[in-house]
Amino acid sequence: MAAAVNTPTPEIGTTNHTDDGYDKKCIFCKIVKGEMGTELLHNDETVCCFRDIHPGAPHHYLVVPSKHVGNCKSLGKEHVPLVEKLVETGKEILQKNNVTDLSDVRFGFHWPPFCSVTHLHLHVLAPISQMGFMSRLVYRLNSYWFITVRNQKKHPTIESAIYYNLVYN
Ligand SMILES: [Zn+2]
Ligand SMILES: [Zn+2]
Repeated sequence: MAAAVNTPTPEIGTTNHTDDGYDKKCIFCKIVKGEMGTELLHNDETVCCFRDIHPGAPHHYLVVPSKHVGNCKSLGKEHVPLVEKLVETGKEILQKNNVTDLSDVRFGFHWPPFCSVTHLHLHVLAPISQMGFMSRLVYRLNSYWFITVRNQKKHPTIESAIYYNLVYN
């Protein structure tokens, strides 16, 4: 059996962030680059989607920007098209996986410091009706730790993403 070993090229004196939006210390950057062997359900130059390793629902996907973007506190007006793309991709992935009842799904971000990974990631969970007690707590609607695309209104720093209220209400 051929041993396929990915030996990282040592780099000296570089910072974490490189020009192509890759953070060497970030696990999601590595996943997007295919360095973790994670199955990518969607991957283009803007967004990437893969399964959450600790699923909180029968369907639990993470949709992330392909380039490193910090947590939702760092979002500004310029990120609206990106957030929109994350949501659209999440919906497409659900549909591809035969989740058609979009009223029984949840889309949201963990509010810092409740993010385990700083790389911006949208949680896509379905069906909500099959989520267990702990998952309901961790991904709770209208909690201060889990920001659904709907209730971002409460968080002024991502006020610009409010128009999702229109889409998801
Ligand atoms: Zn990253
Ligand atoms: Zn999270």
